[in-house]
Amino acid sequence: MSQTVTKNKYETTIGLEIHVELLTNSKMFCGCKVEFGGEENTRVCPVCLGMPGSLPVANKKAIEYTIKAGLALDCDIASFTQFHRKNYFYPDMPKDYQISQFDKPFCLDGHLDVDTEGRHRKIRINRVHLEEDTGKMLHQSKTGRIADASYSLVDFNRAGTPLMEIVTEPDIETPGEARAFMQKLRRLVLSLGVSDCNMEEGSMRCDANVSLRIKGEKELGVKTEVKNMNSFRALQRALEYEVLRQEKLLNEGERVLQETRHWDADKNITTTLRSKEEAHDYRYLTDPDLVPMEIPDEWIEEIRNTLPELPNARKERFISEYELSDYDAGLLSATQVIGDYFESVLKIFNKPKTVANWIMGDLSMHLNAEGKEMEESPIKPKSLAGLLELIDKGTISGKMAKDIFQEMYETGGDADTIVKEKGISQISDESSLLAIIEEVIEANESSIEDFKSGKQQVVGFLVGQVMKATKGQANPQVVNKLLKEALAKH
Ligand code: ADP
Ligand code: MG
Ligand code: ZN
Repeated sequence: MSQTVTKNKYETTIGLEIHVELLTNSKMFCGCKVEFGGEENTRVCPVCLGMPGSLPVANKKAIEYTIKAGLALDCDIASFTQFHRKNYFYPDMPKDYQISQFDKPFCLDGHLDVDTEGRHRKIRINRVHLEEDTGKMLHQSKTGRIADASYSLVDFNRAGTPLMEIVTEPDIETPGEARAFMQKLRRLVLSLGVSDCNMEEGSMRCDANVSLRIKGEKELGVKTEVKNMNSFRALQRALEYEVLRQEKLLNEGERVLQETRHWDADKNITTTLRSKEEAHDYRYLTDPDLVPMEIPDEWIEEIRNTLPELPNARKERFISEYELSDYDAGLLSATQVIGDYFESVLKIFNKPKTVANWIMGDLSMHLNAEGKEMEESPIKPKSLAGLLELIDKGTISGKMAKDIFQEMYETGGDADTIVKEKGISQISDESSLLAIIEEVIEANESSIEDFKSGKQQVVGFLVGQVMKATKGQANPQVVNKLLKEALAKH
């Protein structure tokens, strides 16, 4: 909606900072277990509690996962890299600094392309770095919001969880594009197996920076940063709201304040969280407890070899190997599960276009209607292949297949069994069809003359009559062929 309004005068600029908790066994700098929730402060030690004198040791697996994500995003991997201390005070971080990365992150200069809103968009990735997550504040009030709380508790179970941060360049131009980008990024990270990317549990979180500028203007406008969106929908809506809010301010001759804002999903508005007018001074300094690291090329190559086939590569392969259209290949490679499903059916029934049509047509329609994902499909690849084989052999017609499909979807049964149980099969047997055809011709004698005088449409009418006589079970192709032969002989 915002786009139609801003189209005339302003253009929108969006940049995202995405935090992803990595699925390692232990925390970033200590041996405590990484897990969601649990009894408060049960997975803690002097390191992740920030006790003076405790010493951090970097988690190699977390570094491997970060490099893996960087490679998947087409980044350059740094040969020399370092951890820094980012100094600020917050009660969920008792060291008063967060170990993060500053000017020597693991990964730089990548991109992730999205096809959305009818355009191909290359979104550049500025960097991917690694840091530690903070603890969690538990504000003691009904709403859980700090403003209503008389006191707060802190749970440090999350403190020290390896946190990967992916920062985009300000290349995103609409809220819908931001959402599409996040969806694609989530699928990519999931396929790498480095995080469970659960947005509700906060293992994937996104801060969205957004600004407006008058069309054609070179310099970017003043941005606000919106936090606390825990779904794709919330991200898009928060940005739409923010675009409208900024536009209104600018139209009224006011200025947009540089600040961090909070998305309130109940009220559908953003509210001020804190001002950023004065630049933060985090006094970054290299962490003297952690040695700088040189990443050997051989290790990078080793990690590269563990990458699964990435969505874009798979799409290209679907186009060249199966001769699918760009559109079909895009949909079928959108997630790992859909692509795997498609290829599992092909192993048994190797007609890519037909399989593609059934997956994107009937199967997707049924799943969408119930809000289900492909992995929940009651029809397994083997069963779909079985159905398609029956059509291919002429045992059932395309029309019958739709009904059988419905039944398969509801019962989870396979096509063969349903066809046998219900006795629904197509009559392709020529001698039984010929008998019916003769009856139909006799009942419509004038059609013989019509046919001979070149009125082809009479064939269609007669095929219809045969179908009616067989309650739709005759194989229309066979009927068509036999009818023409029979009419010519009369
Ligand atoms: P900060 O120092 O405020 O965190 P950065 O320059 O590090 O700002 O950028 C953070 C994010 O904000 C990046 O994703 C970047 O692309 C985006 N960004 C920067 N400037 C703008 C702007 N004017 N409008 C929208 N997004 C922006
Ligand atoms: Mg920021
Ligand atoms: Zn610990």
